[in-house]
Amino acid sequence: MKGTEPDFTRWSAKLREFVPSPCIVCSVTTNSVLSLCHHCYADLPWISKSCHTCGIPLPDSGLHFNYCARCLIDPLPFSFCKGLFHYSSPVKKLLARFKFHAQLDIGFTLSNLMANSFLNEYAGISKPDLLLPVPLHRSKLKRRGFNQALEISKVVSRRTAIPLGDGLFEKVKNTQSQAELESAVKRKRNQRGAFSCIEIERLKSVNHIAIIDDVVTTMATAKSLAATIEGQGIRQIDVWCLARATL
Ligand SMILES: [Zn+2]
Ligand SMILES: [Zn+2]
Repeated sequence: MKGTEPDFTRWSAKLREFVPSPCIVCSVTTNSVLSLCHHCYADLPWISKSCHTCGIPLPDSGLHFNYCARCLIDPLPFSFCKGLFHYSSPVKKLLARFKFHAQLDIGFTLSNLMANSFLNEYAGISKPDLLLPVPLHRSKLKRRGFNQALEISKVVSRRTAIPLGDGLFEKVKNTQSQAELESAVKRKRNQRGAFSCIEIERLKSVNHIAIIDDVVTTMATAKSLAATIEGQGIRQIDVWCLARATL
């Protein structure tokens, strides 16, 4: 796949410089490069407060706690997980149109919002050395035709100048959908050994990696990938997603 995919994000960005486009949510014509009108931008289900470690939304109660109870008891193998949106309307439908109907313009818009958040988060501090889109198993990649996490990462990479680590790891186990598994034990077992590092040489001078995905729900995928990355001696791992869902 690497190097042979059409570069949808670059094509989309160029086109939008010249042609007004409909808002991806309400279809009103907008001149915004992001194809998102001001009203719909403001109405997106932004996460205002979340657990600093796992990114799960926390009640905006004014109380000063930054971690959920689970993370206080059971620390995760990465520094933080940051999700931009609640997995609710209209983001849930937008992600389905992006992922299952290949509406890559929607992915472009949402990825740019992630890039904005990246630039804020790492302003004045050291950025990750690499962006790592969560790899898809080759059978899923063949069925879908593209990896949504890679499309998001391409936009973030271009905006932040952080190199893409596409192809460094692969998904070697064709796992079941995490949301379909009812227990945490089954989800953990499902993801165990799911990823493998295939280009160890390219990781020699890498200390800090940002994992990127469209939706994080159970953390089992992120934990499994982070454990594989950690096994290669990477010291800092951050996790980013467009939507942070809860079961
Ligand atoms: Zn709109
Ligand atoms: Zn937490």
